[in-house]
Amino acid sequence: MTSPAAETRQLLEALGVPASRFTGGSRTVRTPLTGEAIGAVKDDSPAGAKAAIGKAQAAFEAWRKVPAPQRGELVRLLGEELRAAKTELGRLVSLEVGKIASEGLGEVQEMIDICDFATGLSRQLYGLTIATERGDHRMMEQWHPAGVVGVISAFNFPVAVWSWNAALAFVCGDSVVWKPSEKTPLTALAVEAIFSRAAKRFGGVPDGLFTLILGAREVGEALVEDPRVPVVSATGSTAMGRIVGERVARRFGRSILELGGNNASIVTPSADLDLALRAIAFAAMGTAGQRCTSLRRLIVHDSVYDELVGKLKKVYASISVGNPLTTESLVGPLIDKAAFDGMQKALEEARKAGGTVHGGARVTEAGPQEAYYARPALVEMPEQVGPVVNETFAPILYVLKYSEFDEALALQNGVPQGLSSSIFATDMREVERFVSAQGSDCGIANVNMGPSGAEIGGAFGGEKETGGGRESGSDAWKAYMRRQTSAINYGRTLPLAQGVKFDVDDGGTSP
Ligand code: NAD
Repeated sequence: MTSPAAETRQLLEALGVPASRFTGGSRTVRTPLTGEAIGAVKDDSPAGAKAAIGKAQAAFEAWRKVPAPQRGELVRLLGEELRAAKTELGRLVSLEVGKIASEGLGEVQEMIDICDFATGLSRQLYGLTIATERGDHRMMEQWHPAGVVGVISAFNFPVAVWSWNAALAFVCGDSVVWKPSEKTPLTALAVEAIFSRAAKRFGGVPDGLFTLILGAREVGEALVEDPRVPVVSATGSTAMGRIVGERVARRFGRSILELGGNNASIVTPSADLDLALRAIAFAAMGTAGQRCTSLRRLIVHDSVYDELVGKLKKVYASISVGNPLTTESLVGPLIDKAAFDGMQKALEEARKAGGTVHGGARVTEAGPQEAYYARPALVEMPEQVGPVVNETFAPILYVLKYSEFDEALALQNGVPQGLSSSIFATDMREVERFVSAQGSDCGIANVNMGPSGAEIGGAFGGEKETGGGRESGSDAWKAYMRRQTSAINYGRTLPLAQGVKFDVDDGGTSP
């Protein structure tokens, strides 16, 4: 059987990444499947990041002159290259992050989808014509390219998050400098190679339109601090966003923050419990609980609590945990030891707060000692306290009981995060209240499905400590452009707005 290291090498070579990019560097990349080293990349320095920003600035000045539908052609070609590379890149995502095979492929499909969306968008960057109070005047609103967009991304969607930002930024006329997670540089190198093939086919892409910079926080900070980067899109923990958001704001830059979630589902008395069970299982245990939208809190009406939680306990006890590329397992490994330790700490805190923990132990037989597999944990909590109000990036589902709908809504909204939420109900009054202004306070509110698994067509993001940013579909593109309002006087007089008079003595030169 091919080892993960050998397979990674084969995949990277097939994707066109030169061996010098993933061997011989000082940062060791490990696969969470077995813990073994699968690459050694060279980090960029903060000075290298500054140089990349300089090149991106020059590229922006050329790219903004290219008509938007032609910019869309580059993104269309990128989508074609991603289609051709889907099998290999999807597999590489699984090797580097530990996702099951279909989720690795799904991540690449999401990249293809956003390229299709952005290609169409390149002909739809509409502005407005606005009625003006002044005679012989016209007023309009235009959207112009913003400049260099800095993208900082998290480990758990190592390539899709880049594409959500970059596909929009390219059609909007911006250049992109990307710092991926230091845990996932290999998939980023593959994206760099795929992009360069699209750029070659396009011809005439300015040098520096897209630059990948590798490294940890210090390299990201170079993007955050640099006034030549008007837009910083940062995806990761709330702790990171608190620092990045403040620093970008200090220099009056714009940040698109996509931070931690603590997503809940409410199960009402009218819910279809079989459907709910399947949806909860995927949302809470899929991706080993390492999605920003993973289901972390289940708020169940007391009339259906015993039936639903009884069934859930059986599903939790039987779900297969193991190497998703060599077994049929639905739950793969946690990214690293720190993630496993964080999970155990949260479970201990839950016990201290009166919780009853089912599952959560390490599955040592699933992989070598250096790999961290854990059984997903279901935790019955007496109240929403302690670890329940924090995001632990692991497969822990806290279960709470409610009796009145208002109480369920208060629990759903009673955490600092505001990314995603859902309700299971067939009572239309409860459904409508949940999605109304008095309902869920999250950026995403689903009905009869879990909180995870968003499509690219909608704007993605959340409120409160999730950061308030929106990416991907709908009109999220506006964050990558600058808005300009222009009033044009085509008359021979100078009427002032609000009827203001300011008649100066022009010495009789007026007509
Ligand atoms: P992380 O915060 O540890 O790192 C994210 C990225 O930020 C990395 O590239 C890291 O190097 C960089 N970084 C950290 N500190 C920085 C600083 N001060 N300046 C500049 N860059 C800095 O997150 P992670 O462990 O990779 O990912 C998991 C977290 O990401 C979870 O909280 C999850 O909910 C969140 N997430 C959110 C979304 C979303 O769309 N809301 C999507 C995916 C992941």
